[in-house]
Amino acid sequence: MSEPLFKRLALIGIGLIGSSVARIAKEHGDIAAEVVVSARTQKTLDRVMELGIADRVEIDPGKAVDGADCVMLCAPVGAFADLATRIAPHLAPGAILTDVGSTKVSVIRDVGPLVPEGVHFVPAHPVAGTEYSGPDAGFTTLFQNRWTLLTPPPGTDEAAVEKVAELWRRCGSMVEIMEPGHHDRVLAIVSHLPHLLAFTICGTADDLADESRQEVLRFAASGFRDFTRIAASDPVMWRDIFLNNREALLEMLARFMEDAQAMSRAVRWGDAAYIEDKVERGRKIRRSLIEMKQA
Ligand code: NAP
Repeated sequence: MSEPLFKRLALIGIGLIGSSVARIAKEHGDIAAEVVVSARTQKTLDRVMELGIADRVEIDPGKAVDGADCVMLCAPVGAFADLATRIAPHLAPGAILTDVGSTKVSVIRDVGPLVPEGVHFVPAHPVAGTEYSGPDAGFTTLFQNRWTLLTPPPGTDEAAVEKVAELWRRCGSMVEIMEPGHHDRVLAIVSHLPHLLAFTICGTADDLADESRQEVLRFAASGFRDFTRIAASDPVMWRDIFLNNREALLEMLARFMEDAQAMSRAVRWGDAAYIEDKVERGRKIRRSLIEMKQA
Protein backbone atom coordinates (compact mmCIF):
# COMPACT_ATOMS: atom_id res chain seq x y z
CA MET A 1 0.00 0.00 0.00
CA SER A 2 1.30 3.50 -0.84
CA GLU A 3 1.78 6.17 1.84
CA PRO A 4 -1.41 8.19 2.52
CA LEU A 5 -1.54 11.29 0.31
CA PHE A 6 -2.76 13.44 3.20
CA LYS A 7 -2.41 13.47 6.96
CA ARG A 8 -5.91 14.72 7.60
CA LEU A 9 -8.79 14.91 5.11
CA ALA A 10 -11.79 17.01 6.16
CA LEU A 11 -15.05 16.30 4.33
CA ILE A 12 -17.61 19.09 4.66
CA GLY A 13 -20.93 17.44 3.79
CA ILE A 14 -21.25 13.67 3.78
CA GLY A 15 -23.93 12.48 1.39
CA LEU A 16 -23.58 10.17 -1.58
CA ILE A 17 -20.30 11.69 -2.78
CA GLY A 18 -18.63 12.58 0.54
CA SER A 19 -19.47 9.22 2.10
CA SER A 20 -18.15 7.35 -0.95
CA VAL A 21 -14.83 9.21 -0.60
CA ALA A 22 -14.86 8.51 3.17
CA ARG A 23 -15.49 4.79 2.60
CA ILE A 24 -12.65 4.59 0.07
CA ALA A 25 -10.31 6.51 2.40
CA LYS A 26 -11.11 4.16 5.31
CA GLU A 27 -10.93 1.00 3.23
CA HIS A 28 -7.81 1.70 1.14
CA GLY A 29 -5.81 3.69 3.68
CA ASP A 30 -3.74 5.37 0.94
CA ILE A 31 -5.70 8.62 0.77
CA ALA A 32 -5.57 10.06 4.28
CA ALA A 33 -4.27 8.94 7.66
CA GLU A 34 -7.28 10.57 9.33
CA VAL A 35 -10.77 11.48 8.08
CA VAL A 36 -12.76 14.23 9.81
CA VAL A 37 -16.36 14.92 8.78
CA SER A 38 -18.74 17.84 9.19
CA ALA A 39 -22.41 18.07 8.10
CA ARG A 40 -25.34 20.36 8.72
CA THR A 41 -27.10 18.13 11.25
CA GLN A 42 -25.93 16.12 14.25
CA LYS A 43 -28.18 13.27 13.09
CA THR A 44 -26.04 12.78 9.99
CA LEU A 45 -22.84 12.93 12.04
CA ASP A 46 -24.17 10.31 14.48
CA ARG A 47 -24.97 8.08 11.52
CA VAL A 48 -21.45 8.60 10.12
CA MET A 49 -19.95 7.38 13.41
CA GLU A 50 -22.33 4.38 13.43
CA LEU A 51 -21.23 3.51 9.92
CA GLY A 52 -17.59 3.83 10.99
CA ILE A 53 -16.60 5.90 7.95
CA ALA A 54 -14.83 8.75 9.83
CA ASP A 55 -12.31 9.01 12.64
CA ARG A 56 -13.95 12.12 14.05
CA VAL A 57 -17.01 14.30 13.41
CA GLU A 58 -17.49 18.01 14.11
CA ILE A 59 -20.73 19.95 13.69
CA ASP A 60 -18.68 23.16 13.38
CA PRO A 61 -17.02 23.12 9.92
CA GLY A 62 -14.28 25.46 11.20
CA LYS A 63 -13.26 22.88 13.81
CA ALA A 64 -13.41 20.10 11.23
CA VAL A 65 -10.85 21.79 8.95
CA ASP A 66 -8.46 22.80 11.75
CA GLY A 67 -5.11 21.14 10.99
CA ALA A 68 -6.39 19.41 7.82
CA ASP A 69 -4.00 19.35 4.86
CA CYS A 70 -6.90 18.60 2.50
CA VAL A 71 -10.44 19.97 2.77
CA MET A 72 -13.16 18.80 0.39
CA LEU A 73 -16.51 20.59 0.14
CA CYS A 74 -19.18 17.90 -0.46
CA ALA A 75 -22.38 19.88 0.27
CA PRO A 76 -24.85 21.30 -2.32
CA VAL A 77 -23.16 24.10 -4.31
CA GLY A 78 -25.57 26.75 -2.96
CA ALA A 79 -24.04 26.26 0.51
CA PHE A 80 -20.42 26.76 -0.62
CA ALA A 81 -20.14 30.55 -0.10
CA ASP A 82 -21.36 30.30 3.49
CA LEU A 83 -19.20 27.24 4.21
CA ALA A 84 -16.10 28.87 2.71
CA THR A 85 -16.67 31.97 4.86
CA ARG A 86 -16.88 29.79 7.97
CA ILE A 87 -13.83 27.63 7.26
CA ALA A 88 -11.51 30.26 5.74
CA PRO A 89 -10.02 31.49 9.08
CA HIS A 90 -9.22 27.87 10.02
CA LEU A 91 -7.44 26.78 6.82
CA ALA A 92 -3.74 26.11 7.37
CA PRO A 93 -1.20 27.67 4.97
CA GLY A 94 -0.20 25.05 2.39
CA ALA A 95 -3.50 23.18 2.76
CA ILE A 96 -5.47 22.15 -0.31
CA LEU A 97 -9.11 23.21 -0.60
CA THR A 98 -11.09 21.24 -3.15
CA ASP A 99 -14.74 20.39 -3.82
CA VAL A 100 -17.01 17.98 -5.69
CA GLY A 101 -19.66 20.48 -6.83
CA SER A 102 -21.51 19.83 -10.09
CA THR A 103 -21.06 23.43 -11.33
CA LYS A 104 -17.64 25.01 -11.59
CA VAL A 105 -17.90 28.68 -12.69
CA SER A 106 -20.16 29.46 -9.70
CA VAL A 107 -17.91 27.58 -7.27
CA ILE A 108 -14.86 29.55 -8.43
CA ARG A 109 -16.91 32.78 -8.21
CA ASP A 110 -18.25 31.99 -4.71
CA VAL A 111 -15.28 30.28 -3.06
CA GLY A 112 -12.24 31.67 -4.92
CA PRO A 113 -12.21 35.16 -3.32
CA LEU A 114 -12.55 33.66 0.20
CA VAL A 115 -9.51 31.37 -0.05
CA PRO A 116 -6.73 32.67 2.23
CA GLU A 117 -3.24 33.41 0.89
CA GLY A 118 -1.09 30.26 0.82
CA VAL A 119 -4.06 27.85 0.57
CA HIS A 120 -4.32 26.01 -2.78
CA PHE A 121 -7.81 25.93 -4.29
CA VAL A 122 -8.37 23.07 -6.76
CA PRO A 123 -12.04 22.82 -7.90
CA ALA A 124 -13.09 19.32 -8.99
CA HIS A 125 -16.16 17.41 -10.11
CA PRO A 126 -16.42 13.62 -10.04
CA VAL A 127 -18.86 12.83 -12.85
CA ALA A 128 -20.45 9.88 -11.10
CA GLY A 129 -23.62 9.50 -9.12
CA THR A 130 -26.87 7.76 -8.38
CA GLU A 131 -30.30 9.10 -7.45
CA TYR A 132 -29.69 8.28 -3.76
CA SER A 133 -28.45 10.72 -1.14
CA GLY A 134 -27.21 10.83 2.44
CA PRO A 135 -24.35 9.02 4.23
CA ASP A 136 -25.88 5.56 3.70
CA ALA A 137 -25.92 6.01 -0.08
CA GLY A 138 -22.15 5.98 -0.67
CA PHE A 139 -20.13 2.99 -1.88
CA THR A 140 -16.47 2.36 -2.68
CA THR A 141 -16.84 1.64 -6.40
CA LEU A 142 -18.85 4.77 -7.26
CA PHE A 143 -15.95 6.48 -9.07
CA GLN A 144 -14.52 3.38 -10.75
CA ASN A 145 -13.91 4.10 -14.46
CA ARG A 146 -15.73 7.40 -14.18
CA TRP A 147 -14.23 10.80 -14.98
CA THR A 148 -13.26 13.45 -12.48
CA LEU A 149 -12.87 16.88 -14.06
CA LEU A 150 -10.49 19.37 -12.42
CA THR A 151 -10.96 23.06 -13.24
CA PRO A 152 -8.03 24.87 -11.55
CA PRO A 153 -8.05 28.65 -12.08
CA PRO A 154 -4.95 29.99 -13.92
CA GLY A 155 -1.89 30.13 -11.65
CA THR A 156 -3.00 27.29 -9.34
CA ASP A 157 -0.04 25.46 -7.78
CA GLU A 158 0.72 22.49 -10.05
CA ALA A 159 1.77 20.20 -7.22
CA ALA A 160 -1.61 20.79 -5.53
CA VAL A 161 -3.46 20.01 -8.77
CA GLU A 162 -1.44 16.80 -9.14
CA LYS A 163 -2.24 15.78 -5.54
CA VAL A 164 -5.98 16.21 -6.10
CA ALA A 165 -5.67 14.29 -9.39
CA GLU A 166 -3.88 11.50 -7.53
CA LEU A 167 -6.59 11.44 -4.84
CA TRP A 168 -9.20 10.81 -7.55
CA ARG A 169 -7.05 8.22 -9.31
CA ARG A 170 -6.78 6.39 -5.99
CA CYS A 171 -10.60 6.52 -5.85
CA GLY A 172 -10.62 4.64 -9.17
CA SER A 173 -11.38 7.65 -11.34
CA MET A 174 -9.92 8.88 -14.62
CA VAL A 175 -8.89 12.53 -14.43
CA GLU A 176 -9.02 15.38 -16.93
CA ILE A 177 -8.31 19.11 -16.60
CA MET A 178 -10.96 21.38 -18.11
CA GLU A 179 -11.66 25.09 -18.36
CA PRO A 180 -14.53 25.88 -15.91
CA GLY A 181 -16.85 27.53 -18.46
CA HIS A 182 -16.39 24.61 -20.84
CA HIS A 183 -17.11 22.21 -17.97
CA ASP A 184 -20.40 23.95 -17.23
CA ARG A 185 -21.54 23.83 -20.88
CA VAL A 186 -20.63 20.17 -21.27
CA LEU A 187 -22.37 19.22 -18.01
CA ALA A 188 -25.41 21.31 -18.97
CA ILE A 189 -26.04 19.02 -21.95
CA VAL A 190 -24.96 15.65 -20.50
CA SER A 191 -26.43 16.01 -17.03
CA HIS A 192 -28.32 19.18 -16.13
CA LEU A 193 -30.68 19.29 -19.14
CA PRO A 194 -31.56 15.55 -18.89
CA HIS A 195 -32.44 16.08 -15.22
CA LEU A 196 -34.53 19.14 -16.08
CA LEU A 197 -36.43 17.08 -18.68
CA ALA A 198 -36.94 14.22 -16.21
CA PHE A 199 -38.32 16.50 -13.48
CA THR A 200 -40.55 18.21 -16.04
CA ILE A 201 -41.96 15.03 -17.58
CA CYS A 202 -42.73 13.59 -14.14
CA GLY A 203 -44.56 16.81 -13.30
CA THR A 204 -46.49 16.63 -16.57
CA ALA A 205 -47.52 13.02 -15.84
CA ASP A 206 -48.53 13.97 -12.31
CA ASP A 207 -50.72 16.79 -13.62
CA LEU A 208 -52.77 14.35 -15.71
CA ALA A 209 -56.28 13.46 -14.67
CA ASP A 210 -56.48 10.82 -11.93
CA GLU A 211 -57.34 7.94 -14.19
CA SER A 212 -54.48 8.54 -16.65
CA ARG A 213 -52.05 9.11 -13.78
CA GLN A 214 -52.80 5.64 -12.43
CA GLU A 215 -52.09 4.19 -15.85
CA VAL A 216 -48.79 6.08 -16.10
CA LEU A 217 -47.69 4.18 -12.98
CA ARG A 218 -49.06 0.82 -14.11
CA PHE A 219 -47.41 0.89 -17.51
CA ALA A 220 -44.31 2.88 -16.55
CA ALA A 221 -41.94 0.19 -17.83
CA SER A 222 -42.54 1.46 -21.35
CA GLY A 223 -40.04 4.31 -20.93
CA PHE A 224 -41.36 6.61 -18.21
CA ARG A 225 -39.63 4.50 -15.54
CA ASP A 226 -36.15 5.61 -16.69
CA PHE A 227 -37.16 9.25 -16.24
CA THR A 228 -38.50 8.58 -12.73
CA ARG A 229 -35.13 7.16 -11.67
CA ILE A 230 -33.38 10.39 -12.67
CA ALA A 231 -36.18 12.47 -11.17
CA ALA A 232 -35.74 10.79 -7.76
CA SER A 233 -32.60 12.88 -7.09
CA ASP A 234 -32.21 15.30 -4.19
CA PRO A 235 -34.32 18.49 -4.69
CA VAL A 236 -31.93 20.89 -2.89
CA MET A 237 -28.91 19.64 -4.81
CA TRP A 238 -30.69 20.06 -8.14
CA ARG A 239 -32.21 23.43 -7.26
CA ASP A 240 -28.67 24.63 -6.54
CA ILE A 241 -27.25 23.15 -9.77
CA PHE A 242 -29.94 24.77 -11.96
CA LEU A 243 -29.52 28.16 -10.28
CA ASN A 244 -25.72 28.01 -10.40
CA ASN A 245 -25.41 26.93 -14.04
CA ARG A 246 -28.20 29.17 -15.23
CA GLU A 247 -26.73 30.50 -18.49
CA ALA A 248 -25.35 27.24 -19.88
CA LEU A 249 -28.50 25.37 -18.90
CA LEU A 250 -30.80 27.96 -20.52
CA GLU A 251 -28.70 27.88 -23.68
CA MET A 252 -28.92 24.08 -23.95
CA LEU A 253 -32.63 24.17 -23.13
CA ALA A 254 -33.23 26.72 -25.93
CA ARG A 255 -31.40 24.46 -28.41
CA PHE A 256 -33.36 21.47 -27.21
CA MET A 257 -36.67 23.32 -27.58
CA GLU A 258 -35.80 24.22 -31.19
CA ASP A 259 -35.05 20.57 -31.91
CA ALA A 260 -38.21 19.44 -30.11
CA GLN A 261 -40.18 21.92 -32.27
CA ALA A 262 -38.60 20.42 -35.39
CA MET A 263 -39.55 16.92 -34.22
CA SER A 264 -43.07 18.10 -33.47
CA ARG A 265 -43.29 19.48 -37.04
CA ALA A 266 -42.03 16.20 -38.47
CA VAL A 267 -44.67 14.27 -36.53
CA ARG A 268 -47.43 16.69 -37.58
CA TRP A 269 -46.51 16.57 -41.29
CA GLY A 270 -45.63 12.89 -41.36
CA ASP A 271 -41.95 13.45 -42.16
CA ALA A 272 -40.95 9.80 -41.67
CA ALA A 273 -37.34 10.27 -42.84
CA TYR A 274 -36.71 13.01 -40.27
CA ILE A 275 -38.11 10.90 -37.43
CA GLU A 276 -36.14 7.83 -38.48
CA ASP A 277 -32.92 9.83 -38.74
CA LYS A 278 -33.32 11.21 -35.19
CA VAL A 279 -34.01 7.76 -33.73
CA GLU A 280 -30.99 6.36 -35.59
CA ARG A 281 -28.76 9.13 -34.15
CA GLY A 282 -29.98 8.25 -30.65
CA ARG A 283 -29.08 4.61 -31.19
CA LYS A 284 -25.61 5.57 -32.41
CA ILE A 285 -24.95 7.62 -29.29
CA ARG A 286 -26.04 4.69 -27.11
CA ARG A 287 -23.74 2.32 -29.03
CA SER A 288 -20.77 4.70 -28.61
CA LEU A 289 -21.41 4.89 -24.85
CA ILE A 290 -21.41 1.10 -24.60
CA GLU A 291 -18.15 0.91 -26.59
CA MET A 292 -16.57 3.52 -24.28
CA LYS A 293 -17.74 1.51 -21.23
CA GLN A 294 -19.70 4.52 -19.92
CA ALA A 295 -23.14 2.93 -20.24
P1 NAP B 1 -26.31 14.60 -0.51
O1 NAP B 1 -26.26 13.12 -0.54
O2 NAP B 1 -27.63 15.28 -0.65
O3 NAP B 1 -25.61 15.11 0.85
C1 NAP B 1 -25.40 16.47 1.10
C2 NAP B 1 -24.54 16.63 2.33
O4 NAP B 1 -24.26 18.02 2.50
C3 NAP B 1 -25.20 16.17 3.63
O5 NAP B 1 -24.22 15.60 4.47
C4 NAP B 1 -25.72 17.47 4.25
O6 NAP B 1 -25.75 17.44 5.66
C5 NAP B 1 -24.63 18.42 3.81
N1 NAP B 1 -25.10 19.80 3.77
C6 NAP B 1 -26.18 20.29 3.15
N2 NAP B 1 -26.27 21.62 3.36
C7 NAP B 1 -25.23 21.94 4.13
C8 NAP B 1 -24.79 23.14 4.70
N3 NAP B 1 -25.46 24.30 4.49
N4 NAP B 1 -23.68 23.12 5.45
C9 NAP B 1 -23.01 21.95 5.67
N5 NAP B 1 -23.37 20.79 5.15
C10 NAP B 1 -24.48 20.79 4.40
O7 NAP B 1 -25.37 15.25 -1.62
P2 NAP B 1 -24.44 14.55 -2.72
O8 NAP B 1 -25.29 13.88 -3.74
O9 NAP B 1 -23.33 13.82 -2.07
O10 NAP B 1 -23.86 15.86 -3.43
C11 NAP B 1 -22.88 16.64 -2.79
C12 NAP B 1 -22.20 17.53 -3.83
O11 NAP B 1 -21.70 16.69 -4.86
C13 NAP B 1 -23.12 18.54 -4.49
O12 NAP B 1 -22.43 19.76 -4.63
C14 NAP B 1 -23.39 17.95 -5.85
O13 NAP B 1 -23.60 18.96 -6.82
C15 NAP B 1 -22.12 17.17 -6.11
N6 NAP B 1 -22.28 15.97 -6.97
C16 NAP B 1 -23.36 15.16 -6.81
C17 NAP B 1 -23.49 14.04 -7.63
C18 NAP B 1 -24.68 13.13 -7.50
O14 NAP B 1 -25.05 12.45 -8.46
N7 NAP B 1 -25.31 13.04 -6.34
C19 NAP B 1 -22.50 13.76 -8.58
C20 NAP B 1 -21.38 14.58 -8.66
C21 NAP B 1 -21.29 15.70 -7.85
P3 NAP B 1 -27.05 16.89 6.46
O15 NAP B 1 -27.16 15.43 6.09
O16 NAP B 1 -26.69 17.08 7.87
O17 NAP B 1 -28.20 17.70 5.98
